[in-house]
Amino acid sequence: MNIALIAHDSKKELMTQFCIAYCGILSHHNLCATGTTGRLVSEATGLQITKFLSGAHGGDQQIASRIQCNEIDLLLFFRDPLNAKPHEPNEAAILRLCDVHNIPVATNIATAESLIMGLQRGDLDWRELVHP
Ligand code: PGA
Repeated sequence: MNIALIAHDSKKELMTQFCIAYCGILSHHNLCATGTTGRLVSEATGLQITKFLSGAHGGDQQIASRIQCNEIDLLLFFRDPLNAKPHEPNEAAILRLCDVHNIPVATNIATAESLIMGLQRGDLDWRELVHP
């Protein structure tokens, strides 16, 4: 599975801790991330992560284009719901694209944990049948 990671600044520590906790599961998948999120997670976990540009410089749009091409199977996007970002319209577009393409997406750790447990159980294997 191709898993994309994005975390706003106030959620980067949470994303890092999440990836440390689920490193064993994540290590069986292809990971990509916006620049800073990817760097922090790979430094903390040793996971191999394809790093795009930082979100503010277009990394979120690079992930969006991969979603459009059905190259992302799961998105973990830990958002800061309290502080608006200048590139927020791009981020709303990412969530819309996930809905267009039926990509499972988590915007908080509670949903992310459910998805990761489902991933481990094989609940998301249907995606590989639809998009081999
Ligand atoms: P970043 O981008 O991982 O490069 O900080 C995330 C974001 O969109 O804020």
